[in-house]
Amino acid sequence: MPRQSMKRGRRPELMWGLGLAESEMRQIIDGVGPGFHVRNFPEDALPVSRELEQEEKPSAAWIPWSVWSAFPESRKQEYRDQDETHRILIQDGEAEVEMEQVLAEGFLTAVDLPLTRPKIQDVMFRAKEVKSLYSDIYRMTEEIMLERELLARKTDQLMFLNKLLASATESLDAGTILANAKNSLGLILPVKVLHAAFWNTGSDNAADVEVFLNGKMIPASESEWIERLMASACSLGSGAVNGFQISYTDPARRPEYSLAPDQGKLVTMPLTAGHQTFGCLTLLCEPGYRLGKDQVETLRSAVNHVGLALRNALAFKEVKLRADRDGLTRLYNRRSFDERLVYEIKRRSRYHHDLSLLMVDLDHFKSVNDTYGHKAGDLVLRKVGEILSTVFRTTDLAARYGGEEFVVLLPHTSEEAAWKLAERVRTAVENCAFDFNGRNFSVTASIGVASVEGGSLASTDDDLVLKADKALYQAKNNGRNMVVVSGQKSTPAHNAMQ
Ligand code: GH3
Ligand code: MG
Ligand code: MG
Repeated sequence: MPRQSMKRGRRPELMWGLGLAESEMRQIIDGVGPGFHVRNFPEDALPVSRELEQEEKPSAAWIPWSVWSAFPESRKQEYRDQDETHRILIQDGEAEVEMEQVLAEGFLTAVDLPLTRPKIQDVMFRAKEVKSLYSDIYRMTEEIMLERELLARKTDQLMFLNKLLASATESLDAGTILANAKNSLGLILPVKVLHAAFWNTGSDNAADVEVFLNGKMIPASESEWIERLMASACSLGSGAVNGFQISYTDPARRPEYSLAPDQGKLVTMPLTAGHQTFGCLTLLCEPGYRLGKDQVETLRSAVNHVGLALRNALAFKEVKLRADRDGLTRLYNRRSFDERLVYEIKRRSRYHHDLSLLMVDLDHFKSVNDTYGHKAGDLVLRKVGEILSTVFRTTDLAARYGGEEFVVLLPHTSEEAAWKLAERVRTAVENCAFDFNGRNFSVTASIGVASVEGGSLASTDDDLVLKADKALYQAKNNGRNMVVVSGQKSTPAHNAMQ
């Protein structure tokens, strides 16, 4: 009983005969022994495409030379294309077919008549050998291909590290190091842009941040990236940002620099020295890109190295980061305004163009803090920062002068044009609705305008600020929420040009 069920479990292996003579057929069946099923096709009913494509492929086909040699070439090829089947030639012709031709015709081997049992067994043994050889070769080829792929990847990574190591130590300029790092990283990652931030934490536990943007970009993207990098500086660094400064790594303009943080795969890596995190690199890769495990490791060692090179570069500079922007409003700070003012006054004295200045002060701001809290006050200041940076051109300079006071320096702008811009700021502030913890409120601003026009004698920087400040004082005195132009009579209706 058990023996029977075993037999039933194993299907006999299929072999074909193509036009075998009755005697040949018998000898083969006898020679191969049990476990095989030989199906013979008579010469006038040889298998055609339907049989050739059936599910079960024969492991071997026995073909007499008399049958094979009568086939047209196309027919022969059809049989040769069955590569799961070993073809065995039966030498039944007058002259023996040379072994060379046997192989050239696509046979595994040949066997001559009479088909004795030992001869058939020998053929079967060879067929088995060839089969296992083939599967070994197949497996090895697969392994080699895999190995080659891994090697190619490793080679890429080594080339990358090599290039990176060489280029990172080539320069002591942080911008150059970053530009080189981006090029090298491009060898293993589809990097579109690379931004970086470094920070220096002062004794007050607030940091001055130096931001390296890849290049000039549209303002909307720039402010998103700044937010992103400031957030990294806060979370990886000391927690608060005092002020910051922006540099551009690449002076060229490229469309990809304007890509926003959500337009790709974002990778942020901290830069550390000892136990201290002094900066971060932020990469934007192609959307949907996934890092392999080995790439993460390569990247990590690469970033460590770039980190060291950058650390050296920053130390070499030996200047403390000089923040030129204000951490809260993202506008320029008082110091950058002072420097720019001196420069613009000097330039004006040579070229005699118009130069105007706005001085903006929020009205009753103390009571905003008192009523809604300091955080609400900060929210307002931020919003005013946004308004100022959207109203003006890039050649204008909007800065936080201190507290709730702002200044805007407007080269090549007449008094009349400056007044119009000031009006635009005033109404924008007035129309802005604030919502803080469910409480709604609005604020107003008073603005003083001062100008030096074309032909007039050069004035000093102090003059201009003083004049704008006086105009502002008048605006406050005349009831606030208004624009006053310096040097005009101080009756509200007239001075406010309303
Ligand atoms: P006026 O209309 O005369 O300008 O009245 P004011 O209340 O705006 O003027 P004052 O100079 O008395 O008050 C300015 C207020 O601005 C006081 C200060 O608490 C607030 N302030 C200054 N800097 C900040 C800041 O960074 N955040 C917040 N929330 N408030 C600030
Ligand atoms: Mg004030
Ligand atoms: Mg005020």
